[in-house]
Amino acid sequence: MGFDVTAIRKDFPILGRTLKNGKPLVYLDNAATSQTPQPVIDVIVDYYSRYNANIHRGVHQLSQEATDAYEQARQKIQKHLNIAHAHEVIFTAGTTHSINIVAAGFGQILQPGDELIVSALEHHANIVPWQMACERSGAVLRVIPMTPQGTLDLDAYEALLNDRTRLVFVNHVSNALGSINDIERIIHQAHAVRAAVLIDGAQAAPHLVADVQALDVDFYTLSAHKICGPTGVGMLYGKEKWLNLLPPYQGGGEMIATVSFEKTTYADLPHKFEAGTPNICGGIAFGAAVDYMNSIGFEQIAAYEHQLLLRATEGLKSIEGLTIYGDHDHKTAVISFNLAGVHPYDVGSILDQLGIAVRTGHHCAQPIMTYYNIPGTVRASFSFYNTFEEVDALIAGVKKAQQMLC
Ligand SMILES: *Cc1c(COP(=O)(O)O)cnc(C)c1O
Repeated sequence: MGFDVTAIRKDFPILGRTLKNGKPLVYLDNAATSQTPQPVIDVIVDYYSRYNANIHRGVHQLSQEATDAYEQARQKIQKHLNIAHAHEVIFTAGTTHSINIVAAGFGQILQPGDELIVSALEHHANIVPWQMACERSGAVLRVIPMTPQGTLDLDAYEALLNDRTRLVFVNHVSNALGSINDIERIIHQAHAVRAAVLIDGAQAAPHLVADVQALDVDFYTLSAHKICGPTGVGMLYGKEKWLNLLPPYQGGGEMIATVSFEKTTYADLPHKFEAGTPNICGGIAFGAAVDYMNSIGFEQIAAYEHQLLLRATEGLKSIEGLTIYGDHDHKTAVISFNLAGVHPYDVGSILDQLGIAVRTGHHCAQPIMTYYNIPGTVRASFSFYNTFEEVDALIAGVKKAQQMLC
């Protein structure tokens, strides 16, 4: 069966939009957030139209329906990532929140002199919470260097590992460059020195499926809004033993077993990490988004997006004075580039006038920009609902920008 992008695009009402200057929307900022298909929008409308209620507490029918739908969503995510137990899936506000839960917890149990390893390719969400944990605990942060190709130097990583290493945290896919990191090797080598590993899966999730048990990873994170779900909801996977060991992140309702002024005891997993009323509708819609992506099929998605990537890479490379950062084979459909002598913001502004939405700037990954000694890049990031015509529009748009700016 072929991949019918025309049919798929009909699922996304926003893709039919015309922008203020009459141009049809060409949405190439998918690494920042994905668009939402009608089946997911329908789930959100249905929740608020029929069974909006607080969960886990009420005896009444609406509360039970909402609780069932929320817990079913948890199970969908569990199954999607091949997670052993549903209680190892913690609903969060997104990847940033997920990483903060783990980093704040470790910040309380790390010892001075313990070592943590981060990579040079990280999003700020996987750097700053750990710097805060180091400040609190006296642990030391070490950095896996990157290569000019935009990959990680894993021999240097191997040399950083030692018996003081407690944790390694790396993204599965770089949001700034699209590089797919060799997390199998990273996890395997960390475990050889008994260090735990957190993989930030936010940017991998739209393109490939992680099998957390096969990876034997200790923590894995996702944001729903990058896989066709709503903003403000995501998940933290943690191995049961780690989630039991870590202290809770927030105190409040839902996360307790008993409360008295003498002593409060914490609830079992996953509730220990889910204080307060969660984003109930968001969680349910997150489950629907996982269903939607699987109904398209991740193998089909990856194969199609790779064709978009090849065409865009070839077209952009034919433009003189254009540099692509992280141009190698093992990447998702993300292209970060600059035109010689032109600020990325100016290119982005001209593309915007043409109806083409790209991201410009440092992409929350300033260390990568520092490495390349650039203020930022223009980033075009593709999804399975983009077309070859849109790729061609991007290439033509960049050529036009060059004529206007150079
Ligand atoms: C988007 C992204 C994040 C942050 O996700 P939020 O949903 O904003 O919390 C972190 N890491 C990577 C690699 C990302 O792409």
